[in-house]
Amino acid sequence: MLFDINKSHYKYREEFDEFPGIENHAVEYTTCVCGGNQATVVSTTSRHRNFQPIVACETCGTLRANPYLTAETADFYYRNVYGNVKRTDRSPEQLFREQQALSIVPFFDDILGEFETVLDYGGGAGGKTADFLKASKDLSLYEVETRYSQYAFENGIKPHDPSARYDLVIVSHVIEHMIDPVHQMRDIIDRCCTKDGLLLVATPIIDRQRARQWLRHFHISHKYYFTEDALIGMMASLGCRLVKQNNKDSFLFRVGGTPDIEAAQQHYRRGAEKTRAAIARELRPGWRSFLRSLKFWQPQPHNQAAPRTPELSP
Ligand SMILES: [Zn+2]
Repeated sequence: MLFDINKSHYKYREEFDEFPGIENHAVEYTTCVCGGNQATVVSTTSRHRNFQPIVACETCGTLRANPYLTAETADFYYRNVYGNVKRTDRSPEQLFREQQALSIVPFFDDILGEFETVLDYGGGAGGKTADFLKASKDLSLYEVETRYSQYAFENGIKPHDPSARYDLVIVSHVIEHMIDPVHQMRDIIDRCCTKDGLLLVATPIIDRQRARQWLRHFHISHKYYFTEDALIGMMASLGCRLVKQNNKDSFLFRVGGTPDIEAAQQHYRRGAEKTRAAIARELRPGWRSFLRSLKFWQPQPHNQAAPRTPELSP
């Protein structure tokens, strides 16, 4: 195990209760997005030092919180806890500015001619995609937190039209919050994307860092932590082909292909190997622990007997 909540030497972010009253709600055990059930425990804590078991799937290498909130509990959490606890200090305008600083639009510079309509799915105040307006794109936003979406709508972004399909759908830092990404991504592809449309998925990719840094990602609102391979594999199983990526967090797919199960399995195997290697690298003893093990391996000289316990060795 990499992160044990009973040990106190990790650098935790500010400690606070991520879900007050969680004991009144249900959690459940689930299989991985790849269908795998075998897993290794990598952590028992979130980055805020809340108890949270995180496992690494043996089949695809994806990390997931298991057990995790049921759909009903997650619904309650997002309605009543998430916004209050996580974004309490941010006004919609602040969130918009912070998002705009991380604009996704430059990633599309070389393919701006390939789409007209854009949907930002779950984009908060819409800052990450707002610069598409400057590129004369027809931009819409789907967001459940009305306090933030209202700000976007006042600034030229349209509300999502459930009857419309969009040339480009942006799902940025949403998939890690999904309870069932396979089902929910399929739903987005079926309902929101045009046939052969573009779909951008952005999410933290755990094999971009050493395993010792994974703790910084663990948060009660995240269920899945993908590896690059597991994400591409899962999307292949949904008929999505990778167009390009930025070697950070963003992956652009072309939807509408036939599900490629073989490609998915290949990616899953590679993802599992990489995660296993990353964990093994982290747990491999360093010089200090090697020297310590040598010290304890050497037989103790007789004149330096271990402290005696009188009743056992008088
Ligand atoms: Zn898996």
